[in-house]
Amino acid sequence: MAEDSLNDLTQRLIELGASDARFIAAHSIVVEDRFAEMCASPQCPSYGLAPGCPPHVMKPGEFRALLSQYKHAIAFKIDVPTAVLMSDGRRDVAKLIHEMSSTVARLAKENGFPKSDGFAAGSCKMIFCHDQARCAVLDGDGECLFPDIARPSISGLGVNFLELCKVVGWKADIITSETDPEDVPMGMLAGLVLIG
Ligand code: SF4
Repeated sequence: MAEDSLNDLTQRLIELGASDARFIAAHSIVVEDRFAEMCASPQCPSYGLAPGCPPHVMKPGEFRALLSQYKHAIAFKIDVPTAVLMSDGRRDVAKLIHEMSSTVARLAKENGFPKSDGFAAGSCKMIFCHDQARCAVLDGDGECLFPDIARPSISGLGVNFLELCKVVGWKADIITSETDPEDVPMGMLAGLVLIG
């Protein structure tokens, strides 16, 4: 893969609003069943509500098999104040992450990497369809309302996010509903694009 192509894609992510975007080896992405299982217990409010979340999204074992077909990936993030992550503002940032992941996967496809695919933080049901009673796709009576931008959830696939941060060189703190923004003022939301 030409170095210029890699740089163009990471540069595009920065132009779209990423705080950082880096190429990593696809095999360095650690995927563990326990992270996908955590969507069910303790149950995430989005569990089972969209095709991009467990139990509907591909299982961690399937994602590991998919990853083995790729050499390269891009990890990117947007740094976000913790207070925003703990508010409705989180949805706006997550929406941007899904849009960026979709855009760069499409650009990679257009530039000779047809198997490229994007993944993003958060559930598309909560991000794009929070005002819909149910996901049209899961209802079986409609197509996705946001087919060009909604991406599968990174954590739902079992990606070990803290390990990913180590690989990329990002400092990451665990933020929960109990976190005091005074203690941990900044967090992040992230996306992944497999390039192939
Ligand atoms: S319609 Fe599309 S964006 Fe909305 S919840 Fe279903 S899969 Fe996600």
